[in-house]
Amino acid sequence: MTTTPVTGHAGGRRPSGDGPLLQVRDLSVRFTRKGRAPVTAVDSVSFEVAAGRSVGIVGESGSGKSVTSLAIMGLLPKRGVDVAGSVTFDGEQLLGMSDDRRRSLRGAEMAMVFQDPMSSLNPVVPIGVQVTEVLRRHRDMNKAEARDEAVDLLRRVGIPEAQRRLKDYPHQLSGGMRQRALIAIALACSPRLLVADEPTTALDVTIQAQILDLLRGLVAETGTALVLITHDLGVVAGMCDDVHVMYGGRLVESADRHELFARPEHPYTHGLLASVPRLDSPRGEPLTPIPGSPTLTRPWSTGCAFEPRCTRAQPDCLGSAPAMEAQHGHAVRCLYPYGAPGPASVVDPNGERA
Ligand code: ADP
Ligand code: MG
Repeated sequence: MTTTPVTGHAGGRRPSGDGPLLQVRDLSVRFTRKGRAPVTAVDSVSFEVAAGRSVGIVGESGSGKSVTSLAIMGLLPKRGVDVAGSVTFDGEQLLGMSDDRRRSLRGAEMAMVFQDPMSSLNPVVPIGVQVTEVLRRHRDMNKAEARDEAVDLLRRVGIPEAQRRLKDYPHQLSGGMRQRALIAIALACSPRLLVADEPTTALDVTIQAQILDLLRGLVAETGTALVLITHDLGVVAGMCDDVHVMYGGRLVESADRHELFARPEHPYTHGLLASVPRLDSPRGEPLTPIPGSPTLTRPWSTGCAFEPRCTRAQPDCLGSAPAMEAQHGHAVRCLYPYGAPGPASVVDPNGERA
């Protein structure tokens, strides 16, 4: 296995070329398992992230977020999966890259926090060893330094009695603790690109806030580029520079965070906003859900996938899928977005249509 020279960690940052660190262009993923109907899980997704910036990808369960991140990291199985489009990291094409080259990029260059922590921790290696290994390999620390840093990292992600926990195996930790250990490992790498798939979903709100703080610090202090994947718009609200809303495998709205929260245009984004938990409502209180379930999604080939659940749908939403239309950096895939001059706003004072 080749190893990449590592010079960057908290406080010091490798220089990066101009342009986005990660550029995803028309990424599509189709599952083509024999004997089953093909599933297009990701459909022409494009976005980019620059060093020191964070991007949120938001959508309900099943919208294609995890498959997108696995495709970026090259972690989809080779058989029964067609991946098309382009994913470049610092100008280098990741799709179709050799396994050796990819392994050398993973870790210090690009790291991922998985939605399911158990699948990515080694069950037979104590947590402490898993963290210190990364520090020794990627940050060139000796045993004692790595151990101190590991304790510090575990503390920072909110693992109590970190010193004692070093000896614990993953199965001895709760789900939330495992998730935190995984985040500690990702932080230990101090990667140039971090893809975090629902990193805080299993955690309670206090720890969640703490982890988001850590991620924010990582981006600000070390210039890491962050792709934060979540079903919760509330998580990206205080966190991400740009937000992409995903539905049925496609991006349906993209804008910078302030613009998106100030002027959401897609009816789906409106629905997601209405279902964000508020700090002033008791935990467990039902939120305003989007009508219907993601299973009502229709294929984009037959019109807008969100049409069956959309409160603003019109007959012409069926037939062909709307294109992503951008204005001033705010893109939306909808024929009847909020904020667009609709029939009501073009009625003149005499009541006649303008
Ligand atoms: P999300 O992370 O947004 O909840 P996923 O990316 O996990 O959604 O899944 C997107 C879609 O791809 C879903 O419809 C899911 O059923 C499908 N999918 C995911 N993995 C596979 C697979 N290995 N084979 C077939 N379909 C899959
Ligand atoms: Mg997922």
